[in-house]
Amino acid sequence: MPTESADSLEKISREILACTKCRLCEDRKRAVPGEGSESTKVMFVGEAPGEQEDLQGQPFVGAAGKLLTDLLKSVGLRREEVYITNIVKCRPPNNRPPRKDESTTCRPYLDRQLALIHPAVICPMGNSAIHAFLDSDESVTAIHGIPFEIKSVTCFPMYHPAAALYTFSLRKVMEEDFRKLRALLDSIGD
Ligand code: URA
Repeated sequence: MPTESADSLEKISREILACTKCRLCEDRKRAVPGEGSESTKVMFVGEAPGEQEDLQGQPFVGAAGKLLTDLLKSVGLRREEVYITNIVKCRPPNNRPPRKDESTTCRPYLDRQLALIHPAVICPMGNSAIHAFLDSDESVTAIHGIPFEIKSVTCFPMYHPAAALYTFSLRKVMEEDFRKLRALLDSIGD
């Protein structure tokens, strides 16, 4: 039986939906806490909600989200059995990249989600998500698909699905990375 002060994904989501800690709350329609399974082995982390996500309150439901769903399916994963969220939980105006102070202010929500879900593997997607986990300026081009350890969690950097919408050849690269991810998850077991 959880105590009144115990943290939970629902509690975090409620706080995010009411959050006014940074300027992004001024223009958002809906905050986007994240969604999926609390008992998953793998968590996907994008940059920030876009237009569709802001309207619907769910992560990765626009064109990039459709591709993410297809890539998950291609390796036998359903959205409901993984957890999907973003570094920043509200849409930056005109989809500009989140600013450092916005990511820093929002970070405790992600850290609390990570602490509750405790995934074996975190997949940051795209440079800004990758740099939130990796203290270096290495580009996704150099490190995608190469797992590294961070505080006993495996980080598996990936391209952001939106990148493959603009550069079609990246679709094959992402498919290969998802196959590697599947093998990594299988090697971890339950
Ligand atoms: N891009 C992101 O980084 N996150 C979303 O939720 C949607 C698009």
